[in-house]
Amino acid sequence: MKVFKFGGASVKDAEAVKNVAEILKRFPDEQLMVVISAMGKTTNALERLTNAFFYKKEDPLPILEEIRQYHIGILQGLFDNPQHPVFDELHNTIVELEWAIEDEPTHTYDCEYDQIVSLGELISTKIVAAYLQHVGIKSTWRDIRDVIKTDNTYREGKVDWALTEKLIREDFLPALQNSKTGIIITQGFLGVTSENFTTTLGREGSDYTAAILAYCTDAEGVTIWKDVSGVLNADPKWFDETQLIPQLTYQDAIELTYYGATVIHPKTIKPLQNKNIPLYVRSFLNPEKEGTKIHHTQTPLPIPCFIFKVDQVLLTISPRDFSFIVEENLSSIFNLFSKHGVKINTMQNSALSFSICVDQNAQKLPTLIKALQEQYRVLYNDKIELVTIRYYDQQTIDRVTKDKKILLEVKSRYTAQMVMKDA
Ligand code: ASP
Ligand code: MG
Repeated sequence: MKVFKFGGASVKDAEAVKNVAEILKRFPDEQLMVVISAMGKTTNALERLTNAFFYKKEDPLPILEEIRQYHIGILQGLFDNPQHPVFDELHNTIVELEWAIEDEPTHTYDCEYDQIVSLGELISTKIVAAYLQHVGIKSTWRDIRDVIKTDNTYREGKVDWALTEKLIREDFLPALQNSKTGIIITQGFLGVTSENFTTTLGREGSDYTAAILAYCTDAEGVTIWKDVSGVLNADPKWFDETQLIPQLTYQDAIELTYYGATVIHPKTIKPLQNKNIPLYVRSFLNPEKEGTKIHHTQTPLPIPCFIFKVDQVLLTISPRDFSFIVEENLSSIFNLFSKHGVKINTMQNSALSFSICVDQNAQKLPTLIKALQEQYRVLYNDKIELVTIRYYDQQTIDRVTKDKKILLEVKSRYTAQMVMKDA
């Protein structure tokens, strides 16, 4: 049994959905569970819709209409017959949402968010499942909320592993063994609370869903189909010359995603590592190519890897009274970061100050800084960049820091991080 995951870009239009069907046709003898994300940028659109509904700053209906038109366009590219029942299914889902946003919000923002944003995956999987059946690929649509159970941390649902594993083993796994089922098509990103409220697992969480399914079924492997050829040593968005890494260890994959490589969701790798399940990252544009295999291997990364983050903020925090930065200060500082949900990208302390590099965030940072200022002096430096090099050498450091002013540099045995600004 194998788990495949197709992200938003792989189902962004009718041609892309047809391509997914072509890829699945290459695996006629395989037992497959296929996890699918919302189509294209639908999750972003649903986020905007949630904001419009909850904060009432703009009319949500035009956004809903945009989402409806986008999916209708895809359906028209897939089905010649406008009477196909999937058109009605789409229509009904949209109408339900339309009704829901006519009322006042009754839950917290995060809870409302999950009830709305989850529709992206419910719609995409309905469309893909209908299309696969249409072209004769035996498949069954399943609601992932039948099996993935979480707590009620909306937008960041924590999986109840014991219950989830039990349900997957009792439900999805036997279903897959039934020859009538064919491929199971299900949603990434979603879970459900014990009170039957939908949760989401964090943005880009569909990879994680694939890992959960694989872990709970002892799958032979997980394949994430992407619009890149595999894991590259740098993001092609920032670097001209990138190289494919044919294989890497779980450890390196965890480190790279921890420092911000976006090719795989950070939570994906650990469950697979625990059960020694290989993770393949392959191109849906070149499905004959091997891509990258992440597994238990002794091979270290063959070349330095770069992770580039822009729009960073460097906070330099010092006690107001010219005392030193001691443990009590550090623990109170860390507490404030954790309380305000601000993730630290890199940090360095000296006797008199503590410097922390974080992502820019217009909501969280101002309140965090205000809280810090009650006790500390806070210097603020924005519009900076953070580059992390795994397996660095001086040559690569020189290359990325050329014409830059380095504000902070942190090096460990394998990893170097530079916080910098244009010189
Ligand atoms: N559709 C969700 C998102 O865009 C989940 C995913 O794509 O993995 O965040
Ligand atoms: Mg996505």
